Amino acid sequence: MRIAAAYIRVSTHMQEELSPDAQKRLLSEYAKRNGMILSNEFIFMDKGISGKKAEKRPDFMKMISMAKQKPAPFDVILVWKFSRFARNQEESIVYKNLLRNKCKVDVVSITEQTGDDMFGKLIERIIEWMDEFYSIRLGEDVTRGMVENAMRGNFQSSPALGYQVVRKGELPEKVPEESKPVEIAFKKFVYSSMGFLEIARYLNSLGYRTKKGKLFEARGIKYILMNPIYKGWLRWNYRNPDGTKKSKDDWIIVKVPKLEPTVSEELWDAANERIQLMSKIIVKKSKPSSVKRHWLSGLIKCSACGRSLSTSVHTDKRYGRTYTNFQCYGYLKGKCSISHQVSEKKIVPIVLSMLKEDSLKKEVPFEILTDTKSSDEISIIKMQLDKIELKELRIKEAYRNGIDTLDEYRENKNILSMERSSLQEKLESLSVPEEEIKADMPNRIKSVYDIVSNESTTKDEKYAAINSIVKKIIYRKSDGEIDIYYYYS
Ligand SMILES: [Zn+2]
Repeated sequence: MRIAAAYIRVSTHMQEELSPDAQKRLLSEYAKRNGMILSNEFIFMDKGISGKKAEKRPDFMKMISMAKQKPAPFDVILVWKFSRFARNQEESIVYKNLLRNKCKVDVVSITEQTGDDMFGKLIERIIEWMDEFYSIRLGEDVTRGMVENAMRGNFQSSPALGYQVVRKGELPEKVPEESKPVEIAFKKFVYSSMGFLEIARYLNSLGYRTKKGKLFEARGIKYILMNPIYKGWLRWNYRNPDGTKKSKDDWIIVKVPKLEPTVSEELWDAANERIQLMSKIIVKKSKPSSVKRHWLSGLIKCSACGRSLSTSVHTDKRYGRTYTNFQCYGYLKGKCSISHQVSEKKIVPIVLSMLKEDSLKKEVPFEILTDTKSSDEISIIKMQLDKIELKELRIKEAYRNGIDTLDEYRENKNILSMERSSLQEKLESLSVPEEEIKADMPNRIKSVYDIVSNESTTKDEKYAAINSIVKKIIYRKSDGEIDIYYYYS
């Protein structure tokens, strides 16, 4: 049996309002029907108060403070309509969240349903969004304090390359001559599409060294590119005492206007978008691969019969190293008459140089494979957009009929239009125009090239990367050339 409370509010100027007694009767009936106990001591009532400010609703505040007791004396608060609970969206969300999350007290409207249907989910998302918005606003106020706190105690991470801590407890200061390699790294990564390893080599060749005076490594370049200090943001609570990264939720990253950046925010963001893309490519197709012998396994096809070249591992006795040989599966089975035997030592450089060449082209032919998952998502979003339209009609009606004030109407309209634009944005991102994909293809090839040409990435990562954009590679034994067939999904 759940213990229920009821909250009743009537405003004097409302005509088509249910009387307090009628509301009370309906709430009691609802409680009975749903197996809840509703006793008089938990019936709260405010009369003739506009509800704009909760402070002016003495019974409401009494109910909230009771709910805050541990344990709360009731499990659920019943209201005739959500608009009885609060007349202001923001306040309503704050209290509902407080009650639901902190006090474990549910708020139920006995005439309105926010159930599991699509519309209910949409409302929930709007509520979550409002909640987020509210905490962002709170966040701005506390940011200053957080930075100060961090400077006092937490922020002791050794300064990044290009910065030095002059006085303990104060912001790091930029060291111009030390920042030079950082600037170069960002520019080469974003504008010249260089990979981490390439950049490390390049900086080393120019005589630059790390903070500790060592040679740059691919890993270190990635770390630099991902450090928000270079765009003037501070990050702390990033690592555990043992040096491992903490979970992303624990990081605190704050823009600090007084901290001098090394690169523009746009450049930093562009670099990090590219890193994201690179890691997505890896994650997307990663499969357990004990059976895969080579990152090109399954991709290379025989130009004579179209079958895949299968792999076999050979040992080079002189060096004791193993390498992979490819041969047409049909030929091995006697079904294809032309041998397509080729060693990885020969085919890998051909594939790499072809990828690099294609990444520098303005346009590369490719096939668009439709992804059923994203087309499902598109139809769901379209349905959500239809629901928003419906909801807009309803709030307009509510305003015309005097149920909502002009302010409330505007507020609701705002929320809906925000939700709509975020849905539309999502829709646009799902249905990327072909022109954009075309223009993006060389970049994708470049990202894949960076991964497969990098000595420090694993076979699995290379396999995942190449399979994320390449459908097949046809190998012609006659002239030793290949054709790469790209795809986009
Ligand atoms: Zn063949």
